[in-house]
Amino acid sequence: MLKTHNCGELLREHIGKEVTLAGWVHRRRDHGGLTFIELRDRSGLVQIVSDPDHQRAHHVMASARNEYVLQVTGMVCERPAGAVNPEIASGEIEVLAQSVETLNVAKTPPFDINNSSAVDESLRLKYRYLDLRRMRMSRNLQLRHEVVAFIRKYLSDKGFVEVETPILFKTTPEGARDYLVPSRVHPGKFYALPQSPQQLKQLLMVGGMERYFQIARCFRDEDQRGDRQPEFTQLDLEMSFVEQEDVMELIETLTTALFEAVSEKKLQDTPWPRISVEEALNRFGTDRPDLRFGLELREVTDLVVESDFRIFSQSEIVKGLNATECGGYSRRQIDDLAEFAKQHGAGGLAWASIGSDGKVDRSSFAKYLSEGILEALLGRMHARPGDLLLFVADKAHVANEVMGRLRLEFGKRLELFDDNVLACCWVVDFPLFNWDENEHRWDPSHHLFTAPAPSDVSRLLSDPGGVRGAQYDMVCNGYELAGGSIRIHQREMQQQVFRLIGLQDDVARERFGHMLDAFEYGTPPHGGIAVGIDRLVMLLADEANIREVIAFPKSQQAMDLLSGAPSVVDAEQLSELHISTVDEGKT
Ligand code: ASP
Repeated sequence: MLKTHNCGELLREHIGKEVTLAGWVHRRRDHGGLTFIELRDRSGLVQIVSDPDHQRAHHVMASARNEYVLQVTGMVCERPAGAVNPEIASGEIEVLAQSVETLNVAKTPPFDINNSSAVDESLRLKYRYLDLRRMRMSRNLQLRHEVVAFIRKYLSDKGFVEVETPILFKTTPEGARDYLVPSRVHPGKFYALPQSPQQLKQLLMVGGMERYFQIARCFRDEDQRGDRQPEFTQLDLEMSFVEQEDVMELIETLTTALFEAVSEKKLQDTPWPRISVEEALNRFGTDRPDLRFGLELREVTDLVVESDFRIFSQSEIVKGLNATECGGYSRRQIDDLAEFAKQHGAGGLAWASIGSDGKVDRSSFAKYLSEGILEALLGRMHARPGDLLLFVADKAHVANEVMGRLRLEFGKRLELFDDNVLACCWVVDFPLFNWDENEHRWDPSHHLFTAPAPSDVSRLLSDPGGVRGAQYDMVCNGYELAGGSIRIHQREMQQQVFRLIGLQDDVARERFGHMLDAFEYGTPPHGGIAVGIDRLVMLLADEANIREVIAFPKSQQAMDLLSGAPSVVDAEQLSELHISTVDEGKT
């Protein structure tokens, strides 16, 4: 070993000891004939001092630059009074250098490693290996490791077996496009990278594994938005002989124990509230409700349906939000909110501010409503002096989307939530299918293999739109952290679902014949779930983007800025793969 100790671990108890350290020059300064270096390794920082008495060491230290790699042997000493640095763990001591070797030199890095100043993200991604040296990334990756290590231990103790499933497989649809890999030995044929190990974990259940998990990489080729990555990691899990309750219970206890073990944050509610997707949409405008605060939406359609204000009376739905104590907003501020609403699809935003007498003061619509309706409206909205009422009248999904976003916006503006609270809930009672207007067919709202809720099975063929799925989503602070379901385990029912979603028998056979066949050999009832590891760690690390908790993420344009992938490959490699490309520019 090139070192006897880690920098950040040296404490008062090491005073008088000779140690050898190795790490990077975090900062260097010369002062009164002495040279000070803060030496950094993964554990943290320690101060090294050199004096001219140790001539060679002093010379090496004096000529070192930031990010040089040094090996230092020296004596741990107490820092002089007044020189203690409470910011770092080793701040009470320093190491008096006796010998110093330069293990490697470094160019001036393209951004500072030694402070947390904001750096353009593409630069950070291009030089990710330098970015990883910064405290923030190092801390995030360590947290990620702790999360995964905890999960592995917890599940192993509960009798789960970690099984690796293949990356080169066949299409495993989860609603995105597949990444395809051409086969060299089978001209014109392709593997698909798994969008999730869904089918494979179900086949493990057919194989008698009973309790499986995997920290699984999933690949989905979709347009990149906010917190998505083309490849991401899930805790993927499947169990045999279980019902919905069993899977939910396992995940709830696992997550609660995990939060306690790795985070200072507090769980808001135990047990976690359960809320139907319909109720979530009604109250919060989304199936991913942030339950850390109230500010619930209220539907007022019934109150305004008879009014002369056609925007209200002729819309599918009218939903309101009481932005408490924002009645003093200027016209400009309100216009900005209307702009925000339009950007998210609404035709406009109706509003009313409440004066000190509790009556409408200023408003975009009040003059079109009768006294009676107005009064009922204020009552429904719990309007109080100084409030600002906001309404969107539109199709239900638009009104929910916009009002849901406005609710989150006011949650932030009014500082209604505490970042140290984790509010988890289960969202249940999803419809098994959604009607796809364009394609004129049913679309699974989760995935192809989700079973109908036991009470709805008999209506599968007669009323597919009214059937709920045995599906459960776990939501935390407004993020969908996990989703799972009880699966279909009978061939007949699986085939019915394929037909309902418009898969011809021969196509279903071609794509999923292996599943149908497997269901004929005693498939046990089974179900499972997948938890998004990236998002989970992001939440625990207080980051706003999953790229901050992934060592080598892709950019928003799905590129690896470090290596330049995806990149052009040479003609020979393509021809081996029996592939010719079309030059987009020439067609
Ligand atoms: N395969 C699902 C997904 O990736 C999770 C599950 O149903 O277990 O979302």
